[in-house]
Amino acid sequence: MVKIFLDPGHGGSDPGATGNGLKEKDLNLKIALKVRDILNNEYEGHDIRMSRNSDITKSLSARTDEANAWGANYYLSIHINAGGGTGFESFIYNGNYPGKQETDRLRNIIHDTIMQHVDFQDRGKKEANFHVLRETAMPASLTENGFIDHSNDAQKLKSDAFLNKIARGHAVGLAEALGLQKKEKKTEQPNGEIYYRVITGSFKEKENADKRVQELKNAGFDSFIDIFKG
Ligand SMILES: [Zn+2]
Repeated sequence: MVKIFLDPGHGGSDPGATGNGLKEKDLNLKIALKVRDILNNEYEGHDIRMSRNSDITKSLSARTDEANAWGANYYLSIHINAGGGTGFESFIYNGNYPGKQETDRLRNIIHDTIMQHVDFQDRGKKEANFHVLRETAMPASLTENGFIDHSNDAQKLKSDAFLNKIARGHAVGLAEALGLQKKEKKTEQPNGEIYYRVITGSFKEKENADKRVQELKNAGFDSFIDIFKG
């Protein structure tokens, strides 16, 4: 079971960066909840905990203590930038530590996957001495998803569809970095029961399809022909 700790930055009395009518704490939380939902709906073999799933105040050490006590395998902190700039960048801890190479390798996968999902300028893969990167006992990275005080970036961040793309980039990046498996495709029936559909062939000639159905019937299987346009 891969344990993923998602950390939407700031919250409660700490709004983080603000600009263009937006608060960083709200965007971080929206993105993180979407990342959680995508991973839980589409992947398996993992467990997710969040530093917060609502608008609460929480110290940095409370966040990293929780992830360390849980024994998380990966810590991902989600933020929005400010201060004059545009685009996306990611960080790992800038110290010397065992596992730095692996930390960087995982970050590179996540960073590159996010860049494939959003049309943000790539500001690069960076290192910094941030608390959540330094005090975590497992590989950790922090993403800065656009500049809240840049009008073009803020315009994007106001769109829920764009936040979905950012979240998908994070989710798919985490899944690839940590080797999560995609869930089996299931067909949800209206009554809520799940059925698995088995396909034994598709045929251009109806005659051949009929033949296959007959073969299956002879072998004791119930089957039917489903017509579709190729
Ligand atoms: Zn922040």
